[in-house]
Amino acid sequence: MNAEIIAVGSELLLGQIVNSNAQYISEQLAEMGVDVYYHTSVGDNPGRLQHAIEVAKKRSDLLIFTGGLGPTKDDLTKETIAKALGTTLSMDTDALESIKNYFQKVNREMTPNNEKQALILTGAHVLKNEQGMAPGMLLKKGANAYMLLPGPPSEMRPMFHKYGKQAIQNLMKKKEVIYSRVLRFFGIGEAHLETELEHLIDQQTNPTIAPLAGDGEVTLRLTAKHESKSIAESLVNALEKEILQIVGEYFYGYDTDSLVEVGLKLLKQKGVTLSCAESLTGGLFQAQLTSIPGASEVLAGGVVCYQDAVKKKVLSVKSDTLKRHSAVSEQCAVELADNVRELFSTDIGISFTGVAGPDPLEGKPAGTVWIGLSVKGGTTKTFLLNLGGGRNGNRMRTAKYGWHYLIKELSQV
Ligand code: ATP
Repeated sequence: MNAEIIAVGSELLLGQIVNSNAQYISEQLAEMGVDVYYHTSVGDNPGRLQHAIEVAKKRSDLLIFTGGLGPTKDDLTKETIAKALGTTLSMDTDALESIKNYFQKVNREMTPNNEKQALILTGAHVLKNEQGMAPGMLLKKGANAYMLLPGPPSEMRPMFHKYGKQAIQNLMKKKEVIYSRVLRFFGIGEAHLETELEHLIDQQTNPTIAPLAGDGEVTLRLTAKHESKSIAESLVNALEKEILQIVGEYFYGYDTDSLVEVGLKLLKQKGVTLSCAESLTGGLFQAQLTSIPGASEVLAGGVVCYQDAVKKKVLSVKSDTLKRHSAVSEQCAVELADNVRELFSTDIGISFTGVAGPDPLEGKPAGTVWIGLSVKGGTTKTFLLNLGGGRNGNRMRTAKYGWHYLIKELSQV
């Protein structure tokens, strides 16, 4: 089965909103093994929408529409599709009831045009809208199927996830289960990862391997299809094992895991406390940690030691170190990490000092960063980064590297 997504709304063409619905639906369909060959965007214009339908039904099996299901005059998706297919609209009594209940609940008067939202293409299977009013629907007509979804992503996504996917599965001849898992990597570039895994990527069929890069991280989505869910899962397990044998040192988590979440989980698991000395990150590392509930179990505190005077006064960095090596140096990173650990009596102290940019500092180019990792009873480790991004990109990337090294350290303890 192949599909085309037709997003309806003049805002899309005016550049006022991004067509994130097409992105979301495409991603979901890819996981289901449905090929998407076209994305179409069309304004709130019945003539042009009708034309888009005529074109799409000749080249695609499944047409998925988003937007234009609302109560106002410019919401004309259903009416135009009905006309294009030579069918009619009928009132769906359940949808009408739930719209009436909604207005009663919020104590607002229901205007007659709201009833329009309960109209469906005659004979369509209704997809319930649990977040809003306009129901979605699926109609099979001739060789094509037509799925209509609301525009607001907060309504469209749950509807598609809960009801739309199943309705599409029911249309598919071969009843296969799709099992998919995302592996997350940090510290390796996309090109490098793909080179390491080239032989696996080249021979992929089932499971498939889809790499995606962004925010300094790379993910691999492994997707297997099979009539049996447990066989699909075991195909993914076997491929994951093979991949991790090659690039396991860069792997940190699955699916929606973040570096910070994995780091916090490990700190808790190992019963390790942490303190931080943050110069170029200016508190970013700790802000990330404290955004997750339960951070107080492991984070004692930290110092934003932006100026050299603070590095000296609060964290006892030697004047000689600053004079001879400058603040952006391995020596300074070591003293910051050791001294913050002592000051806060924690198991680990982590420090960040570097040149965020855009200008060089003390002869060091923007993007030069030292991270220090001081572990009670062990030797202090240091890591040099040479980052190439803009100021905030460098700060964000530095904090991520902090988590990466901390996770590696904790994984060894
Ligand atoms: P409503 O009942 O809110 O009118 P609707 O189904 O008629 O819903 P539209 O009026 O077309 O949908 O769009 C409502 C809002 O949904 C838009 O203002 C926009 O914020 C969002 N939206 C619509 N289409 C898309 C899209 N393709 N991608 C992302 N967001 C969208």
